[in-house]
Amino acid sequence: MIDGYTRVCGLIGSPVEHTLSPVIHNLLARRLGDNLVYVPFHVPDGKEGDAINGAFALNLLGCNVTVPYKSRVIPYLDQIDQEAARIGAVNTLVRTENGFKGYNTDMPGLYRAMRQEGVGIEGEHVLILGAGGVARAVAVLMAEKGAERILILNRTLPKAQAIAEEVNALTGGRKACAALLTDYKREMGGNRFLAIQATSVGMFPHGKEAVIEEEAFYDRIHTGYDLIFNPAVTRFMQFTDLHGGKTYNGAKMLLFQGIIAYELWTGKTVSEQLAQEVYVKLMEGLAAPAAV
Ligand code: NAP
Repeated sequence: MIDGYTRVCGLIGSPVEHTLSPVIHNLLARRLGDNLVYVPFHVPDGKEGDAINGAFALNLLGCNVTVPYKSRVIPYLDQIDQEAARIGAVNTLVRTENGFKGYNTDMPGLYRAMRQEGVGIEGEHVLILGAGGVARAVAVLMAEKGAERILILNRTLPKAQAIAEEVNALTGGRKACAALLTDYKREMGGNRFLAIQATSVGMFPHGKEAVIEEEAFYDRIHTGYDLIFNPAVTRFMQFTDLHGGKTYNGAKMLLFQGIIAYELWTGKTVSEQLAQEVYVKLMEGLAAPAAV
């Protein structure tokens, strides 16, 4: 029941039409008995500042932020969490007295997903495909959680180099390095890798594509973790599986980044049982074409 006490949270982005976040948050609100609704807000290019100020004026409890605004909203925030500042991107805004405080729940969301799925990071040779907003958060996470080496491969080399330099500066080492996607053979040496697929290649409706299609590459991957969740089995995962690697998709990351955001807004803790119930609902939502 929506009444005069209902609190509103929302998603700011462009596009937002196919988001699955309302499935997560509205189910959590119902199950936890919170008088809260979550709605998507399509924000036109250049209007992100107006959106943040308007959301605060309208007494919104919090927001998620998605492409292309994860970095662009930062100047309009009152505060930023230390970890989000290190990553340079926020995906969750929490109302405070004078404005919103920005957090990044993508990184802890991925970490929670990997722990639940039993994917270890410590001592691993990690390969990150892509150098966009999420790849930066993944690279910081891998460095902080004890990866032995982090190789970032991207179509545009300067973006991968910038992330490698930032990670090395943050962690005070030389663990991270960058190369062009096409140079993977030279860079991988004799190691086998935990590979995290953080490009948008292979996302619905382009499910037949993988960012690297050469089979030899997949012989060097012992675990292929695709951050894409639609389709549930990507071409990258199919190649990895064919070459004997374990595979995971981004659905659990999506689940946990949402749950951590909800916990920040409400101060409540979501149980493992409720998390599993939300996951099942997400899977049902994924049966229909969707994207975040
Ligand atoms: P982004 O900032 O737009 O970055 C996209 C990346 O994909 C860039 O590295 C880009 O390379 C690369 N790319 C795009 N088209 C390519 C092509 N044709 N060939 C080679 N590389 C290409 O996106 P993002 O926000 O980081 O998101 C990346 C992925 O993570 C998306 O698939 C998204 O769905 C997924 N994601 C999942 C979750 C989750 O909860 N599971 C959360 C957020 C994002 P260039 O730098 O050369 O352009």
